[in-house]
Amino acid sequence: MSGVIGGHKCPKCNSDLYFSMSDWKPADTHTGNCFACGYFISWTEGFNTLETLNEIRANNYELVSKDKLEPLTKLPKQNKENE
Ligand SMILES: [Zn+2]
Repeated sequence: MSGVIGGHKCPKCNSDLYFSMSDWKPADTHTGNCFACGYFISWTEGFNTLETLNEIRANNYELVSKDKLEPLTKLPKQNKENE
């Protein structure tokens, strides 16, 4: 792994429950996932569905939190201003 893994704040909701990864091999890429509001950056960006967000929260919470993240019953307010 040649990239940088960092804990940054979510650019949309400012939560610390945001995991991002940058790499420059084989291409300059940046990916990120917010475990709070569901915002993600991948080859494209958007918001995960409630189902996907809960799956990520359940399976990968260790990336952003020591404690388990409870499943959400509904999506939080999602900042879609720049979409
Ligand atoms: Zn967020």
